[in-house]
Amino acid sequence: MPVLVMKFGGTSVATLDRIKRAAKRVGVEVAKGYDVIVIVSAMSGETNKLVGFVEETSPLFDAREYDAVVSSGENVTAGLMALTLQEMDVPARSWQGWQVPVKTTSAHSAARIEDIPPENIMRKFGEGMKVAVVAGFQGISPEGRITTLGRGGSDTTAVAFAAAFGAERCDIYTDVDGVYTTDPRICDKARKLDRIAFEEMLELASLGAKVLQTRSVELAMRYKVKLRVLSSFEEQSDDAGTLVCDEEDIMESNVVAGVAYSRDEAKMTLVSVADRPGIAAAIFTPLSEAGVNVDMIVQNISEEGRTDMTFSCPTNQVQRAEKAMMEAKAAGKINFHDIVADTAVAKVSVVGIGMRSHTGVAAKMFQVLSKEGINIKVITTSEIKISVLIDRKYMELAVQALHDAFELEKAA
Ligand code: ADP
Ligand code: ASP
Ligand code: MG
Repeated sequence: MPVLVMKFGGTSVATLDRIKRAAKRVGVEVAKGYDVIVIVSAMSGETNKLVGFVEETSPLFDAREYDAVVSSGENVTAGLMALTLQEMDVPARSWQGWQVPVKTTSAHSAARIEDIPPENIMRKFGEGMKVAVVAGFQGISPEGRITTLGRGGSDTTAVAFAAAFGAERCDIYTDVDGVYTTDPRICDKARKLDRIAFEEMLELASLGAKVLQTRSVELAMRYKVKLRVLSSFEEQSDDAGTLVCDEEDIMESNVVAGVAYSRDEAKMTLVSVADRPGIAAAIFTPLSEAGVNVDMIVQNISEEGRTDMTFSCPTNQVQRAEKAMMEAKAAGKINFHDIVADTAVAKVSVVGIGMRSHTGVAAKMFQVLSKEGINIKVITTSEIKISVLIDRKYMELAVQALHDAFELEKAA
């Protein structure tokens, strides 16, 4: 039997009624002759609640126990989905990550999937089971501890299963009907795309578009998984939603495919550090060891042998970054006059593979922001994206203005 992977996100399993609706969608595919692997998220809001419990109980928590707690939301929905399917006379059972097993690294709260042996589930399909409902977001480490894959990780579970089982397609059911030119929640002119290239989706995801977890796109690209994003709230045809595919499979694409944003960014500046060989290593090594995810970096020109070093990181890592820098200073590894954190910034990015061959995108982006009176604090570019750090209060305005300027409302 051909295998299909169907993933339902938090809002798609938020209530028993929605689980029923999702189960009906699964029933349609079973009736077409597929063996289906259903990956479920926790009911919406559940994971946030569990994270809150952990942080309240233990601010500097043991990541292994964090994973034990926050992975539990998915266990509930997996069992409920299996029960709902059984009520519809569809042979189904639930699997927690460790039962499959979904083998991961031991990087708790950000584990990577290393292997999913298909034998256990395939044996059950062989015995007549039609649907394996698997709890997303979780796995088991080599030490036998429960791990989680980072927020949004059920997308990655889904793609990894599609790769491991050679699934015909991996359908990601969510609360929007596809991938849009930007987040439809902050720009009402956002347009749904019928297709988007893996590279563009990868950039959009890593720059903040949370519709797919970045790692899921990486895996789909590597293992050539046919990945589709579609709504769980509407009746769906076989070509509904957005197909994430190779760039060769897109007839004509815009220079800019989409605009992404990331709200919770912070900008930190080390004022007056000695400008000498090895200084960047002396700053960024302790930051990395402290688990700070440094994103953008700029170094000012130096004056009299001293310079300012600016970098960005997620807002909730500012304290950790400050602590690492103060410790490095106390240990005599670096020397700076002051450390300044600006926690009210956001990152806005434009993405498009067309930028490889078209010049002028950066200039246009900067003109648009200047016309809106928005000051740019840091800029980074790659072959197919340009990102700027700006004051958070202008983030939505910037997204909308860029969406207009690059005429994305005409995209399809
Ligand atoms: P799920 O719970 O199903 O995993 P998520 O909340 O993780 O859903 O992701 C879906 C959300 O992603 C949408 O509700 C939307 O607000 C947001 N989003 C951000 N950027 C985009 C984009 N370019 N296209 C579609 N949705 C986007
Ligand atoms: N429930 C997890 C989260 O909220 C995983 C997921 O939904 O993808 O991050
Ligand atoms: Mg998600």
